[in-house]
Amino acid sequence: MLTDEQREVRELVRTLARERIASRAAEIDKSAEFPWDIVELFRENGLFGLMFDEEYGGVGASALLTLVAIEEVSKQCATSGLILAAQELGALGIKLAGSPEQKDRLLPKLASGEWLAAYALTEAGSGSDSAAMASEATRDGDGYVLNGSKRFITNAGVAQLYTCFAKTDRTSRHRGISAFVVEAATPGFEVGRIEPKLGIKGSTTGEIFFDECVVPAENRIGEEGEGFALAMRVLDRSRPGIAAQALGIAQGATDYAAEYAKGRETFGEPIGSHQLVAGMLADMETRCEAARGLLYRCGQMIDDGIEGPELTKLSAMTKLFCSDTAMAVTTDAVQILGGYGYIQEYPVERMMRDAKITQIYEGTNQIQRLVIAREMLRD
Ligand SMILES: Cc1cc2nc3c(=O)[nH]c(=O)nc-3n(C[C@H](O)[C@H](O)[C@H](O)COP(=O)(O)OP(=O)(O)OC[C@H]3O[C@@H](n4cnc5c(N)ncnc54)[C@H](O)[C@@H]3O)c2cc1C
Repeated sequence: MLTDEQREVRELVRTLARERIASRAAEIDKSAEFPWDIVELFRENGLFGLMFDEEYGGVGASALLTLVAIEEVSKQCATSGLILAAQELGALGIKLAGSPEQKDRLLPKLASGEWLAAYALTEAGSGSDSAAMASEATRDGDGYVLNGSKRFITNAGVAQLYTCFAKTDRTSRHRGISAFVVEAATPGFEVGRIEPKLGIKGSTTGEIFFDECVVPAENRIGEEGEGFALAMRVLDRSRPGIAAQALGIAQGATDYAAEYAKGRETFGEPIGSHQLVAGMLADMETRCEAARGLLYRCGQMIDDGIEGPELTKLSAMTKLFCSDTAMAVTTDAVQILGGYGYIQEYPVERMMRDAKITQIYEGTNQIQRLVIAREMLRD
């Protein structure tokens, strides 16, 4: 599905990830510290620019190429792959619905990687049911006063730009929500606890608070009441990024298990010669290739400018299939390595822990199934 030029970029990112990121993955997992050196590597090599148009300092946005880059990086390190996926997630609101002034002011900083971005939708009381959010934005003269909090926000504390959602009309559910750009330095904006967690340990996941946080009206993205629809449009475009992260993890684990199966001997033969192990490897590889087919098709659909129900459905299917593949395949990789799969010296236990989140964030896989079925059953 890729053009020669796209294959070249894939090869460049693949080499970069093998040579510069693979050796950092275990340390990032162990220290659970945000890897600024990887951000610097992405800046130096222009990887953030893949997601942005040339007029904003990017290299000409391509969804497919961005997904390929996230996949290649995540093969080596899922935390590092998420840095790219989260940049796209945090930027998409502005890309899709920002004013020309917002785009000119903010996108170049994101395209160069000078600023990292975050997307703040989830709250303590509203995850899957995001329209039940309690954060409020009250109009006051030339600005809005934000009050409330968000939970589980990727890049909390490391991002300079937060795309935030809050109620401008409490009497309404979906239609009462608006979107805002909040810069980290804004008075009344604070980062709270960063959560220790099972996997993607180098990525920060934290609370953010708005306490009488005044945001200028020119930071509202789109019109009042359009925030929920925008949040969903963003997810249609960003879920494939999580699918790419998931597929990278799955392919990384499959490749590792295949190499291991060539070298490890039992009963006088490499374990890959035992048919039960060979069959597992074949299933793992097949699942990854099927997942890649969906992922690349979804990237191409975005690049072709297709939006609406068709993208909503394919993007949910892609995230669902790639993340379920990642969980199944990494579990099998641990099995193929036997006891060695379960210990930290080998990367597949990390990959299995990293895989789990892909079934949860940007909408759990139960929610993806509901989205797919809703599109199927629409009159
Ligand atoms: C590491 C990490 C990073 C994250 N990053 C971000 C971020 O950057 N920005 C952001 O806004 N959010 C982020 N999230 C939040 C994430 O998207 C939510 O946790 C997720 O959408 C689920 O919401 P919840 O945790 O409130 O679970 P709940 O909504 O309470 O769901 C609990 C369980 O019930 C199921 N369930 C709920 N409703 C239904 C239903 N109608 N039918 C069937 N089953 C249902 C769910 O599938 C789940 O299994 C992150 C979370 C984590 C853990």
